[in-house]
Amino acid sequence: MRTRVAIIGAGPSGLLLAQLLGLAGIDSVLIERQSAEHVQSRIRAGILESATVDLLHRAGVGERLAREGTEHRGIYLQWPGERHHLDFTELAGRSVWVYGQTEVTKDLMDARERAGQIAFYDVTDVALHGLDTDEPSVTFVDGSGRQQRISAEIIVGCDGYHGASRRAIPAVGREALERAYPFAWLGVLADVAPSTDELIYAWHPEGFALHSMRSQSVSRFYLQVSPDENIAEWSDDRIWDGLANRLGHSGWTLNTGPITEKSVLPMRSFVSSPMRYGRLFLAGDAAHIVPPTGAKGLNLAVADVALLSRAIRSWLCDGDPRLADSYAQTAPQRVWRCTHFSWWMTSMLHRHGDDFDARLQLAQLQRTVGSRWAATELAENYAGIPMEGAEL
Ligand SMILES: Cc1cc2nc3c(=O)[nH]c(=O)nc-3n(C[C@H](O)[C@H](O)[C@H](O)COP(=O)(O)OP(=O)(O)OC[C@H]3O[C@@H](n4cnc5c(N)ncnc54)[C@H](O)[C@@H]3O)c2cc1C
Repeated sequence: MRTRVAIIGAGPSGLLLAQLLGLAGIDSVLIERQSAEHVQSRIRAGILESATVDLLHRAGVGERLAREGTEHRGIYLQWPGERHHLDFTELAGRSVWVYGQTEVTKDLMDARERAGQIAFYDVTDVALHGLDTDEPSVTFVDGSGRQQRISAEIIVGCDGYHGASRRAIPAVGREALERAYPFAWLGVLADVAPSTDELIYAWHPEGFALHSMRSQSVSRFYLQVSPDENIAEWSDDRIWDGLANRLGHSGWTLNTGPITEKSVLPMRSFVSSPMRYGRLFLAGDAAHIVPPTGAKGLNLAVADVALLSRAIRSWLCDGDPRLADSYAQTAPQRVWRCTHFSWWMTSMLHRHGDDFDARLQLAQLQRTVGSRWAATELAENYAGIPMEGAEL
């Protein structure tokens, strides 16, 4: 089989890239190791920067998002005895939207199906070949056990941290910089109306807590736990008690309801380079991971794709490879900005170290809500710096 762009991985970055290329008349084939149902049901991110929302609209997949997503002006930052609202719209001129990654994925999969473009799910044994030649290819075994080979002009690795693409770059010249954090998140999804109009980020002596939401009737919560936490020890009652304690604020009560999902998420920063090797480009979690505290993972994947889709259009449609040639230099600039912001939010809000560290964190929080300059710095980064290449 031959196509112009072979895309490995049908998470948000792979699906969105395929959609944007399709709009430019560039054929692609998607290759995904899980089933479509599995990909659609993975509970992950849920906060979209306004530039992500704009791009999804321009990509023709924003209709349900506009109807079912909710726009948020900012967040609450709190610590015992204090809760402060940071208004991003006022501080940075931009808002964020709450709309689950599961829904973004469904919308993009539906669009691909409508467009009649090829996607292979349930594949195994994915291998990349000839990346430093003009005729790269991908081989794999499809869902019905048939060996397949796809030749392409370009291969894009959108296959996440555990994918095959990054590892196909020769180890000599590949560099990974990493920071593992000494804590994890216990993520909880519950069928209960949010108890707040905006997300609440809470510093607490017993550990960080976050109250997020997915819809008018579904709430998402996180509790700081140890990386080797045994989830079996977290009964629903213990979770609700922990959340009520860490999120507690005078005159405020936490709605509780049935918990439908709980899992422990490790926290890590990871940046791999280069993001291009020959005819292979990397985008999203295949090249970088951020801890979720700054809500950047999904948005950063979208930003890579915005840049890359423009570069591929320019190369394949206009014969101009300059943007493709500079991708490995331009994409990491945003990656490192978001890596820094995610590390900063994580370091400020999670309980670690000793009482000295705790006082430093509280001093930083006081400064962030007390200075318009400091509040704007958080707001600009959270709501998202301008996304290059997002115009179609
Ligand atoms: C468990 C988890 C929880 C998260 N929670 C949050 C959160 O609460 N808030 C937040 O902001 N961000 C969160 N994130 C981050 C956010 O979800 C990611 O940044 C986002 O999914 C990146 O999209 P992507 O398409 O680049 O990668 P992914 O979504 O990881 O998609 C990669 C795709 O490639 C497929 N794949 C892997 N290997 C192969 C292969 N060899 N061949 C073919 N296909 C392959 C995978 O099945 C997957 O579908 C979470 C991430 C994870 C992993």
